[in-house]
Amino acid sequence: MKTNYLEEKSFTKNLLCTLFGHHYVEVKKVNNHFKEYECTHCKLQVTNDNKGNKIVLTSELKDINKTLSYLHLKRQFLSHFYFSRNK
Ligand SMILES: [Zn+2]
Repeated sequence: MKTNYLEEKSFTKNLLCTLFGHHYVEVKKVNNHFKEYECTHCKLQVTNDNKGNKIVLTSELKDINKTLSYLHLKRQFLSHFYFSRNK
């Protein structure tokens, strides 16, 4: 049974994280304050709140981060191309 094998494997991975804690790596920089991380063991995705605490990345938060990321890029774009031109 393939499904059982997969479930068992992900349980072992989660057990590792439960025992030793998640091993997060940065996967995406949203802006200077927010980043997205992923656990290399169980692939759990988290982001940080404005206090620096790691919180589980829900689809709702993903959408917020996407918007923030877009606004960040837009601001960078504007300051680079618009403001530098008017100097
Ligand atoms: Zn983990």
